[in-house]
Amino acid sequence: MKQFVREKIPFFCFEGISNGSRVQHAVFSRQGGTSQAPYDTLNLSLSVPDDKENVFANRTLAYATHGRSNDTLVHAHLVHGAEVAVVSHWNYGQYVGPVDGLVTNEPGCGLTMNYADCAPILLYDPVNQAIGLGHAGWQGVVKDLPGAMVRAMQREYGTDPAKLLAGVGPCIGPCCYEVGEPVISAVISSFEEPESLLLSPRRPDQSLDRRYFDLLEASRRRLAAGGVCHIETSDLCTSCRTDLFFSHRAERGRTGRFGALITL
Ligand SMILES: [Zn+2]
Repeated sequence: MKQFVREKIPFFCFEGISNGSRVQHAVFSRQGGTSQAPYDTLNLSLSVPDDKENVFANRTLAYATHGRSNDTLVHAHLVHGAEVAVVSHWNYGQYVGPVDGLVTNEPGCGLTMNYADCAPILLYDPVNQAIGLGHAGWQGVVKDLPGAMVRAMQREYGTDPAKLLAGVGPCIGPCCYEVGEPVISAVISSFEEPESLLLSPRRPDQSLDRRYFDLLEASRRRLAAGGVCHIETSDLCTSCRTDLFFSHRAERGRTGRFGALITL
């Protein structure tokens, strides 16, 4: 991913999705906003106990970098599931769902979601001009939300997965994502070669009998199993980089949410 700054708001873009395409997209960081600790500073979520005025001020700042406002984006009521909604500008300003995937082929339609360790999944079909945005944590990849997004675009827009441009954004890395039950059992029963997703510790301070889940690779594999060939991934761990991102795990739940948006 490449980093940009617009109106003093830093954000990241996938090079594949950006190249000469008719979509705009951004994965924001936690920098550039108005919220106080522990939501400092660009918290875009109303589901944490941050000051609502600050959240709306942050949304105005962030969304304006892409010519949008809170009322000209479709939001989602996220629940760690695998449901995908087909949306349009009729859903602007609404929280659609509960769903963890949004897709549209309406020109001009914009989608947004918020994250703190879960993986942002961005999809662009340059042939049929359609986009998708998703939110996948361990439950989302076990239930195959990434695959459900691809199938929704195939069904609704005739998308050829081989032509899709996909991005998996910053999420908690296997350096930090210690897991126990029920995650280990769920990964073993739903993935081939699960041992390659449940890794041994990498740091000397981590105990040898623990397992660390590779959420990014699990998301990538789900997209690949759905037929997606062009998958770009972030190499930033949200838990290692709390200077850049909010991390539910690293900050023990007392933190904000950074946003992603994609517009056609
Ligand atoms: Zn890490």
